[in-house]
Amino acid sequence: MQKGKINVTGKDIFPIIKKFLYSDHEIFLRELISNAVDATQKIKILSSKGEYKDELGELTIRVKIDKKAKTLTISDAGIGMDKEEIDKYINQIAFSGATDFIEKHKDDANAIIGHFGLGFYSSFMVSDTVKIISKSYKAEKPAVRWECDGSPDFTLEEIKKENRGTDIILHIDKDSENFLEDSKIEELLNKYCKFLPVKIAFGKEKEQKDDKSGETEKDHIINNTTPAWTKKPADLTDEDYKNFYKELYPGSFEDPLFHIHLNVDYPFNLTGILYFPKFKNSIEIQKNKIQLFQRQVFVTDSVEGIVPEFLTLLHGVLDSPDIPLNVSRSYLQSDRNVKKISSHITKKVADRLTELFTKEREDFEKKWNDLRIFIQYGMLSDEKFYEKAIKFFLLQNTEGKFFTFDEYKKITEPNQTDKDKNLIFLYTTDPEGQYSFIAEAKEKGYDVLIMDGQLDAHFINQVETKLGGTRFTRVDADVIDKLIQKDEKFESQLTKEDEENLSQVFQSQLPEDATFLVSFEAMRKTANPTIVTQNEFMRRMKDMSKLGGEASFYGNLPDSFNLIVNSNHKIVLNLNKKLHKELEKDLKIINEEKDKINSEIDALNTLQKDKKEEEIPQEEKDKRKELNKQISDTDNKKQELLTTFGKKQKLVKQLIDLGLLANNMLKGKSLNKFVKRSIELIET
Ligand code: ADP
Repeated sequence: MQKGKINVTGKDIFPIIKKFLYSDHEIFLRELISNAVDATQKIKILSSKGEYKDELGELTIRVKIDKKAKTLTISDAGIGMDKEEIDKYINQIAFSGATDFIEKHKDDANAIIGHFGLGFYSSFMVSDTVKIISKSYKAEKPAVRWECDGSPDFTLEEIKKENRGTDIILHIDKDSENFLEDSKIEELLNKYCKFLPVKIAFGKEKEQKDDKSGETEKDHIINNTTPAWTKKPADLTDEDYKNFYKELYPGSFEDPLFHIHLNVDYPFNLTGILYFPKFKNSIEIQKNKIQLFQRQVFVTDSVEGIVPEFLTLLHGVLDSPDIPLNVSRSYLQSDRNVKKISSHITKKVADRLTELFTKEREDFEKKWNDLRIFIQYGMLSDEKFYEKAIKFFLLQNTEGKFFTFDEYKKITEPNQTDKDKNLIFLYTTDPEGQYSFIAEAKEKGYDVLIMDGQLDAHFINQVETKLGGTRFTRVDADVIDKLIQKDEKFESQLTKEDEENLSQVFQSQLPEDATFLVSFEAMRKTANPTIVTQNEFMRRMKDMSKLGGEASFYGNLPDSFNLIVNSNHKIVLNLNKKLHKELEKDLKIINEEKDKINSEIDALNTLQKDKKEEEIPQEEKDKRKELNKQISDTDNKKQELLTTFGKKQKLVKQLIDLGLLANNMLKGKSLNKFVKRSIELIET
């Protein structure tokens, strides 16, 4: 028997392996099974080249638990190792079968660690003692047994073993006894080994017989050795892709919208299938479904840092030996290969969408609403993706028709260009709630888009900056004639003074739960008498602040609206007449009084024109103070008069409520009052 010390470069690396190197202890199983798979594939290659002439025999890798002995054994029928090889590959950690590679990548420590994950030694994370029993494929070499108890001391001796291949026997330590549970091992095999290219058997198939479940003779194979992504796209039907999706996500009921089969072998190696799921309206919940493999070995289902953030919304698998493992995420992002892979995938995704758009527009439109939020997310977060996607991004109008930006520009340009040559895209965030505004816009020959998605506020901002000369305006942002400002103007039938008086009247009945600014606008006679609008900029800032991010300042401001009164509407003109009739006399008195005071002020002004403040006698100063007070008194009197008048006018409240109602803003108690008042008004 040979005894010796494991030759570790760098002192005391052993406890480090055991404790710190792998944060996830469970990956030992992946590492050991990967080694077994490699050894099996090597013997297949040797056999196919004629360098190994004996029967290959059964190549299934077997995983066994012995609860009594507290061991977990992984057996393969691969190429095996002879004494010299164990010495070289196992005893000398730093030369883990990789001298050449290390020579080549001397200056890239990360590549070395990543490439040679010190795989075998990860078994010590869960074991007291590890044994290797191996027989090389070279017939003349005797079988050997290696044993090590986790210290750098090992023993190596020749033994008898008939079959070619390797058994790795782990004596599971006290802290890791959960790895002796069938269910735990089954779970790990399912996680890491589901698509390995060599059959892996764990126990026997179960059978339901006479209400009892028993074991059959048949091996329980846990993996599919030829998953869809390893096949040629030409050999797969749509059905195959859908079935594979179900295999990946056994719990999912919905079919994906479509898929992309990736297949690159230069300048990096990448295969995989990405699926577009139906994107729900909220993006957070659906991230991290892509599974990353290396040569069919599962590595992780967190691909952040490997693909751009928005692509983590996709589902499916990626398989690339060129993605370094066991390195930090931040290192990953700066890795050149990873960068190339990432931009390749982005490009493929954009190309696939372009292809669907050009070749199958009808189908693309059908799926649009399930795709939209994903594409917007991509456009908002990835410049290159934006450039491509802006060509196939679809706008949908209230009639359900779809347009690209270019198409939409063409149809709206003649009618929706304002006096400053800006093209105005009108949109609604709520086709039901903003119905009356949409109807007005349509009557004027405008088209209205539906923009009711979670990312729309941000998206609109982005598109406006990028496109230039195009602005989005929500249909209720202003009265119809001002939504898209043209040069035409309507004459007002009210005088300035009328408007000022009526403004007071309307103010006397405004709702109290938000700020309203009353203004008068000369509109068409047929336009509504009152309209409630919210400034586009302000509203958008508030919408964005709801989603988080900048603009949160606006989120804290109270809601403020405009109450716009149509100064050419018959009802408003009648109200004005009524006001004149009832208040004419009183107003005249107040006005005359005010005129008188004003002329006294004027006289005082002329008197004091060239005097400095200190030259003005106290008497005159007092007089001025008195006059100013009188002015504000008359103002108050006037206001009181108009307010008392206003409060009595049910019609005024009705007009305000109608404006609110058209905006879907009349709720609860106010709505109830409105209904009651309407009935009263109809009855009289
Ligand atoms: P890596 O697999 O990254 O090279 P390991 O420490 O896992 O590093 O394994 C070192 C070497 O030991 C392998 O490269 C291989 O040559 C040999 N080896 C490990 N397990 C087996 C096995 N089951 N059959 C044959 N050779 C093996």
